[in-house]
Amino acid sequence: MSVTLWLKSHRPLAGNALKQTIGYGVGHGLLAIAQAWFLALILNAVVFEGAGLEDLGLLMALLLVLFALRAVVVWLGERAAFTAAAQVRSGLRDQLYRQLQRLGPAYLANERSGALVETLTKGIDDLEGYYARFLPAMTLTMILPLAILLVVFPADWVAGAVMLVTAPLIPLFMIIIGSSAQSKNQRQWKQLARMSAHFLDVIQGITTLKLFGASRREADVVARVSRDYRLSTMQVLRVAFLSSAVLEFFAAIGIAIIAVFIGFRLYGLVMPLPDWLHGLPEITYLQGLFILMLAPEFYSPLRNMGTQYHARMAAAAAAEQMMRVLEATPQQRVAGRDVLRVARPFAVRFEAVHYRYEEGRDALCGLTFEIPAGQRVALVGSSGAGKSTVINLLLGFLAPTQGRILIGDQALADLDLDAWRRELAWVPQQPRLFQGTIAENIRLGHPAADLAAVRNAAARAHAAEFIEALPAGYETLVGERGVGLSGGQIQRIALARAFLRDAPLVIFDEATANLDPESERLVQQGIDDLAQGRTLLVIAHRLVTVRRADRILVIEAGRIRESGTHETLSATGGIYSRMVAVDAGLDPGGRVLTGADLPPASASLETSR
Ligand code: ADP
Repeated sequence: MSVTLWLKSHRPLAGNALKQTIGYGVGHGLLAIAQAWFLALILNAVVFEGAGLEDLGLLMALLLVLFALRAVVVWLGERAAFTAAAQVRSGLRDQLYRQLQRLGPAYLANERSGALVETLTKGIDDLEGYYARFLPAMTLTMILPLAILLVVFPADWVAGAVMLVTAPLIPLFMIIIGSSAQSKNQRQWKQLARMSAHFLDVIQGITTLKLFGASRREADVVARVSRDYRLSTMQVLRVAFLSSAVLEFFAAIGIAIIAVFIGFRLYGLVMPLPDWLHGLPEITYLQGLFILMLAPEFYSPLRNMGTQYHARMAAAAAAEQMMRVLEATPQQRVAGRDVLRVARPFAVRFEAVHYRYEEGRDALCGLTFEIPAGQRVALVGSSGAGKSTVINLLLGFLAPTQGRILIGDQALADLDLDAWRRELAWVPQQPRLFQGTIAENIRLGHPAADLAAVRNAAARAHAAEFIEALPAGYETLVGERGVGLSGGQIQRIALARAFLRDAPLVIFDEATANLDPESERLVQQGIDDLAQGRTLLVIAHRLVTVRRADRILVIEAGRIRESGTHETLSATGGIYSRMVAVDAGLDPGGRVLTGADLPPASASLETSR
């Protein structure tokens, strides 16, 4: 779909407010005609008929009423435009947000968040200008000059003809200039997106940059990026100023020609006229004044549209980015409609599951394994082995390229995604807290839960103690990354969410960052408790967790290489036993199982990335 079509197709977002804006604009224009007529009447009476204030009382009063009416109509029009803008903004945000939800984390992982944020904020503002300003201006350009021509032609066809000839010049030149501005605008937009993305990267990585002494160099890069942005902004502005200068020029020329034609003919009432004016119809002072006063009103919608034209260009550039997001197809499957009919807790089976992020490189190559109902299965493997891909498949953010996933005896692909997600509790590696109170954050697991249930969940997740020690308890406000809370505490709040959710399948991505031993122990206890009567899949990085699993799956380069209990796997002398050996040698307390700890014999775990 072209950008123009896309913009047009989103017009209903502005709803009735847009029609009202146009309606008030038309009203304003018609009042201007009436005002010009009254002014002409008054001036004519005062100047040429010697009328005094007493003769003109009624006309003056009417004129004042007109002034007031125009002001009210302008105000109403502004209000309607504002409403239209607000509606467009919230409508678009809603659409984009839903789409991002549909696209899921798999899409977001490949996008630069800075650029995306730019689309969601400045992009929406730019589109708002198109619907609230440009579209009404455009419609008025088609209506108001026509209305004025309708009154001018009967009064004086010569002035009408001048208007008719000069008016199209304005949009014509605007389009000629505008087409070159369009590409400049798009470039400016890309630069802005690049700059935002860059800023975000720098801010997020500021610790790293400082530590490596690279902040100076980054500052130079930021300076360069922003200089480029400044230059392209100036280019856009140059075109914008040039185009408004051209518009003003043609409007002024048009008015001047009309004035000349009227002036000479009025002059002809008292003096002989030059030959070339002889064939023209005569004109009265009243007509002349009326038309002269209308002439600026005739060109004003055209000029206004010229000023709003850059809103259209900015919108086109923003729309292009938005279309890219809105037209992206989710990598996840088309959701089925079935509800889960199997008994809880249920088993989960992967049958020859392949997943490919990009051509020619399989992230998962025919994964087959089972998590039996009610059991606890640990998935271990080095970084890049495919563990997160397994989780994303289970969460429904990705769909297998080949093979299938069975829940009990039902295929995951046939299930309704929302219904399926209600069966899940997910404790991520780095849980996020959201702006709000701790209670609200726990309630994310089950929004309708009452405070007693929240407390109970917190207690079972071993979080109640520290929460209640906070001055505001469950009402303590926390921010994006749980300001003021330690990693272990955030983990336990996430665990409380899972308890509250009370789902039959729990997916727990263990934290790799070291928690303090006390937190570590409490989280482990919480998980043990959570595992009761549920099916649990743990992405394990710690030996303690792995030991307690009913079954251990060792994944390497997208394949399950070993599977069994701690005892059987330790005895076979495979990858797992080597991991355990290293761990036992270094720290029997339950260290993080990473490739870095492995002896050369299993170096393949690291190099397999
Ligand atoms: P793990 O969680 O075990 O560290 P992942 O499941 O994240 O491993 O990754 C498995 C493989 O898929 C890796 O080779 C990784 O490079 C690749 N991969 C992961 N995410 C993406 C992505 N968004 N685009 C392309 N390749 C990806």
